[in-house]
Amino acid sequence: MVYKSTRSDNVSVSAAQAIAQGISKDGGLFVPQTTPKLSATDFENLRKLDYIGRAKYILRNFLDDFSDDDINYCVEGAYSGTFDNDLPAPLSKLADGKYILELWHGPTCAFKDLALQLLPYLLTTSANKVSNGKETVILVATSGDTGKAALEGFKDVENTKIIVFYPNNGVSPMQRLQMDTQLGENVFVCAIDGNFDDAQSGVKKIFADIDVAARLADSNMQFSSANSINWGRLVPQIVYYISAYCDLMESGADVEKGFNVVVPTGNFGNILAAYYAKIMGTPIAKLICASNSNNVLTDFINTGDYDRNREFYTTISPSMDILISSNLERMLYELSGKDAAMITDLQEQLAATGKYTVTSEISKKIKDLFWAESCDDEKTLETIRSYFEKYSYLIDTHTAVALAVYDDYIAKTGDTHPTIIASTASPYKFSSSVLEAIAPEKLSDGEFEKVKALHEVTNTEIPKPILELEKATVRFNNVCKKDNMIDAVLDYLKINTTLN
Ligand SMILES: *Cc1c(COP(=O)(O)O)cnc(C)c1O
Repeated sequence: MVYKSTRSDNVSVSAAQAIAQGISKDGGLFVPQTTPKLSATDFENLRKLDYIGRAKYILRNFLDDFSDDDINYCVEGAYSGTFDNDLPAPLSKLADGKYILELWHGPTCAFKDLALQLLPYLLTTSANKVSNGKETVILVATSGDTGKAALEGFKDVENTKIIVFYPNNGVSPMQRLQMDTQLGENVFVCAIDGNFDDAQSGVKKIFADIDVAARLADSNMQFSSANSINWGRLVPQIVYYISAYCDLMESGADVEKGFNVVVPTGNFGNILAAYYAKIMGTPIAKLICASNSNNVLTDFINTGDYDRNREFYTTISPSMDILISSNLERMLYELSGKDAAMITDLQEQLAATGKYTVTSEISKKIKDLFWAESCDDEKTLETIRSYFEKYSYLIDTHTAVALAVYDDYIAKTGDTHPTIIASTASPYKFSSSVLEAIAPEKLSDGEFEKVKALHEVTNTEIPKPILELEKATVRFNNVCKKDNMIDAVLDYLKINTTLN
């Protein structure tokens, strides 16, 4: 199987190369040249398997240069004993036709764990195949959850180092604490004085810097990415949508006419995985894209105009505070019939002017596939409260954005397809906002007082990783200017000397 760059017809790499490299040298993202299709027999086979079995089955379709032993080693390492009750992605029925896909039972309590528990295995296996012993340096820009999940996945993984940048004023106190207390001898964490888009642009700039790449090569190192620009992040996410479909069939739900998927969206990685699950043959009807007040995707899906020139809001769903959704590039590539020249042109316009408009033909395809709406902080809090009152079901702020948009969708369309709502974080990761929604009188200053109050008010279980944080020691308190990210990287790698 060949992977192509979204920005060039001349780049063809293997799966292992695509994963080891992370991003194509032309700045494009890797995508499989043809998306594998699953037959009715495949789905029958998948139904009978547990999550690990399903993940192996699906990965084999994408990673044809991995042996069965490689796949078994990677998947079992990632998903055995790392998630609550060994269930990485349980489906919880809220009401008839309304299912919550709980993606936060992993070690960092956010859906990123599904991909980032597996990625280190995929990446080191890939690097062994293609890059003759070079050390892999993972660079991450995070709006909060990716950083912690990547640190946890890569900590003390042999022959790797990981460097994480997060926006100093753009993560929740719990997210900051999770990252700043990270254990491991190969990890480095640094806040930047900018927002997530600054962090992401800074990291992309380091990837593209040939001088820096040369210094790394001199020291027998190479960069790779754990952000969702890496194909190795996306495949594991495709798995849980297909697995959820299998679970729906197993539960006897009426999925004859398909089902909808609602995804609280930021960088467009999670919903892109659902899109790939759909083109593989999973009967997904509508893909419902939910945004917070940073609603650049809502406007894009509804009009065909992408325009990041707008106010950036810091919201109570910080993992979606994003105005440049990297993974959109992959979908536009697919919908344009793999037109790399067009994608390059759009990305150049985005870099130069902050906006672009797609053809009316592509815009129509997008509207057929997707439905999009946004939800502000006030509505988010109201949704947390109403779902707790109505269903005694506690959700975090990101999941609340998804449910608010879904309720809006139902009110406007009357659609009756069964629907899966992706629940992307544990409510305890955002205790402050969740408590404000359901018991504001219990709010106090201390982060862990709020966690305990939330537990007392709702009688829900506090995830162990959150409980353990209270006693963890802060190891990192670095802040750097957004223009100094390169120096921070070179200093940490101890290669900040002038090139000879
Ligand atoms: C990362 C994240 C999102 C957004 O996912 P994308 O793949 O970036 O669209 C939503 N919710 C939570 C809790 C997240 O951590």
